[in-house]
Amino acid sequence: MAENARNLWHLAKPIAELKPLCETLYADVAIVGAGYTGLSCALHLAQQGVQVVVVEAQDVGYGASGRNVGLTNAGLWIMPEDAVRSTGIGQGKRINQFLIDSPRYVEQLITAHKIDCDYTRNGTLQLAHNARAMKYLSARCGQLEVYGADVELLDKDAAFELTRAEHYHGALKDGRAGTLQPLKYCLGLARAALKAGVQIYNHSAVLDIERGAAGVGDKSGKLQLKTQYGRIIADNVILATNAYEEKLSHNKSLYTSLYYCQLASEILSEAQREQCLPANMGVWDSGAVMRSFRTDAEGRLLVGTVGNIHTAGADGLKKWSRHVVGRTFSHIGELKYEYAWAGRIAKSANNIPQIQEVHKGVYQIMGYSGRGIAPATVTGKLMADYLCKNISADELPLPFNVAKHISFNRVRAAIYEIGCQLSHISDFIVR
Ligand SMILES: Cc1cc2nc3c(=O)[nH]c(=O)nc-3n(C[C@H](O)[C@H](O)[C@H](O)COP(=O)(O)OP(=O)(O)OC[C@H]3O[C@@H](n4cnc5c(N)ncnc54)[C@H](O)[C@@H]3O)c2cc1C
Repeated sequence: MAENARNLWHLAKPIAELKPLCETLYADVAIVGAGYTGLSCALHLAQQGVQVVVVEAQDVGYGASGRNVGLTNAGLWIMPEDAVRSTGIGQGKRINQFLIDSPRYVEQLITAHKIDCDYTRNGTLQLAHNARAMKYLSARCGQLEVYGADVELLDKDAAFELTRAEHYHGALKDGRAGTLQPLKYCLGLARAALKAGVQIYNHSAVLDIERGAAGVGDKSGKLQLKTQYGRIIADNVILATNAYEEKLSHNKSLYTSLYYCQLASEILSEAQREQCLPANMGVWDSGAVMRSFRTDAEGRLLVGTVGNIHTAGADGLKKWSRHVVGRTFSHIGELKYEYAWAGRIAKSANNIPQIQEVHKGVYQIMGYSGRGIAPATVTGKLMADYLCKNISADELPLPFNVAKHISFNRVRAAIYEIGCQLSHISDFIVR
């Protein structure tokens, strides 16, 4: 990444004692990827007495779990009724119910494991960027209430009171949601997993997975994962790599990879903070090329949007951000941006996360479609419960073995990216 494009979340203290895998290990379950999915799964398996090894290609939280906005939202990105339409009444209702309380489970884990991750539960707001979007938010509010969600529609004045964000028409408030420092949360899960007996290795990309641990003619049926300097022999494998799959290629056609980037400003003064998100809530808007705003624990403003920082360049995005923040929070004055970074989102065909058994005993979990902090945490636990036989395949609330392959994936990703960049340019004229 360019020199002027640092990730703010990297200020979190890493886990110094992690090392690459340089030996042969035996485990009940090997987990590939140390993000929320892999670490939550590892933690919940270890708590049930299962022997687990996690291998990470880079460092804990290298993928989306160390790059995201940090909004612990509930439910899916799409409307609850769309989930029902796309997966059927029974499955759709189970998905919606499964994810509706997921932020509460994140909070329980943070409390139980004393995870220091700047967590707040102040609620989040989805702002309506035009009058038509208020109708959409009103419908969303009604559909979420069916599942007992703590949501409320706010008019223009009420939304402005909480945010000081100009030009918006109102908002949908989600009282179950909040914000956290995403990498600190991920590292906290890793520390909890280590404490529970999980072995975690970093800088150990899995290069290959094959059956037959002892080589040709082996009848044990165990799986062998090879890294550059070591290997793991395991009964089951969880591929928790989402949009960051490296070296392996089990799922590339099951999701479209989209970028989301963020910029973080210098620390705001007290006077500036009164004019910008005074209720300390994370917000995003209903625009087709969405924007997000939040502050961090030190009081920096974070501005996010769809698109890749490498395409526009960090300087181009800083200009865009100055324009957008100038229009949205017109009283805070010009800000200096000190951090800029991007991450990849795995968008599945129906915007619903999927579990896929790609080979016997090898499970792939992917497709959070941009909403994964709470969903990946509870899905990791779900997968642990499935492997421990606490829940059967028929009872899984998420789609199992039905993921759709997406054709022309790279072309789609390129079209999204070009569309987003054009929209950012047009913002200088219309928004
Ligand atoms: C910029 C951005 C903003 C977002 N904002 C939000 C938000 O505000 N709220 C929200 O709920 N969700 C948000 N999301 C989505 C959320 O971050 C993800 O859904 C979630 O982090 C996925 O977690 P994961 O553990 O499945 O995958 P990841 O965190 O991506 O972890 C996958 C890991 O697998 C490792 N890996 C890959 N290949 C190998 C290999 N061969 N061997 C070993 N390891 C390997 C990678 O290095 C990586 O660390 C956002 C995502 C992005 C990118």
